[in-house]
Amino acid sequence: MHRVIVIGRGLIGSAAGRHLSERMDGIALLGPDEPADRQTHTGVFASHYDEGRMTRIVDPDPAWAVTARRSIERYADLEARSGVPFFTNAGYLGIGEPGSDYLDRSEAAGRELGADVTRLDAAGIRQRFPFLTVPDDADGLHEGSRAGHISPRAMIRAQTTVARRQGAEIIADEAKAIRVTASGVEVDTANGATLRAERVLVATGAFTDACGLSPVALDLRVFGRTVVLARIEDDVMAELEGMPTLGHAGTGAYILPPIRYPDGQRYLKIGIGTTADADLRSLADLTGWFKSSGSAANRRDFQAFLTALIPALQRCRDWHTDTCAVAWTGTGLPYIDYAVDGRIAVAVGGNGKGAKSSDDWGWLAAQLVGGGGWDHPVPRDRLRLPKR
Ligand SMILES: Cc1cc2nc3c(=O)[nH]c(=O)nc-3n(C[C@H](O)[C@H](O)[C@H](O)COP(=O)(O)OP(=O)(O)OC[C@H]3O[C@@H](n4cnc5c(N)ncnc54)[C@H](O)[C@@H]3O)c2cc1C
Repeated sequence: MHRVIVIGRGLIGSAAGRHLSERMDGIALLGPDEPADRQTHTGVFASHYDEGRMTRIVDPDPAWAVTARRSIERYADLEARSGVPFFTNAGYLGIGEPGSDYLDRSEAAGRELGADVTRLDAAGIRQRFPFLTVPDDADGLHEGSRAGHISPRAMIRAQTTVARRQGAEIIADEAKAIRVTASGVEVDTANGATLRAERVLVATGAFTDACGLSPVALDLRVFGRTVVLARIEDDVMAELEGMPTLGHAGTGAYILPPIRYPDGQRYLKIGIGTTADADLRSLADLTGWFKSSGSAANRRDFQAFLTALIPALQRCRDWHTDTCAVAWTGTGLPYIDYAVDGRIAVAVGGNGKGAKSSDDWGWLAAQLVGGGGWDHPVPRDRLRLPKR
């Protein structure tokens, strides 16, 4: 009998498992490894099969800003303890547009938390980042230290390494059903095992509703996202030296600078959430999406947007797409709450930006199911499940 089984070994679940195993024995982390071959894979997928996720303190919502700061402050310790580097301090540049208060709100929340921010006008953006083409009325918000990108794969490896060292059991399997019993909770797995625990934390991201793992309806809105990646050869790389992560307030585009991928190549990535994104409800919808090459229209439009912003990319000859899914809650923040009091809790809903703050969302989930006090700047009520 485990004290706590964390279901889902993604960004939030692995963080929760690490924090829980710091304070108690009897922790299990249950979830599958990344599939070796997406096309032949028969189980669930995840939103962390990548090498780049933006991280920064500045955010228009102070709750996201403070959880990011608390997470980022722990990155160095986690890297040192695990021996797994995952954070690159490339910085962040938000590009605003007239009439949008996105950068003002982001800056205000960032300054409140001591973020290293500078405002730039169009001339300042061009001087500092000469590879960018921005209109004369553009403005920018730059965050220097404590911003950049993380490798989600490596971060999960770091969290898992430390959790395992602290005594957590890692179980590479999928949850199929969860039941409350007289003495605790039972979890049936795809491999035919039944695991028992005093409490269960469900952290299965975009797959939570489709797998039916929460005993109460979460009503997550799950969308498929297409990202477009350009392979960056040395000649283009030379022009992009010092490129930060980029956010574009007008379109919602997010752009990661060239990052080395497992095939040894460097890729620059762009994604933009659009209203035409696939609405993924069932397990078949989700698995079908992850096996697809995404939206052809997105590929065309994102490539056009990117090459207008960074003309050097017109020289890139190799472009490809990847697919991912985002899970939105009704509150814009994750739900971290008990679905069945004292037995089954959830920590789900990255709202498209859950990676940067994942260590702190995991910390909060560990406080909840580990019996610690809340003791956090985000009030507990803001992360509660919808009223039933
Ligand atoms: C294209 C794209 C770009 C993004 N960019 C950014 C970014 O730049 N910055 C940022 O902060 N965020 C970004 N995000 C969001 C971020 O990746 C997610 O918010 C984050 O991964 C959510 O973490 P999670 O733990 O909830 O879910 P996940 O990371 O998806 O983890 C869920 C885990 O649960 C497991 N699981 C699912 N079903 C089961 C089951 N039945 N049994 C056991 N395990 C199961 C999965 O295998 C997975 O490991 C992006 C997302 C996408 C799609």
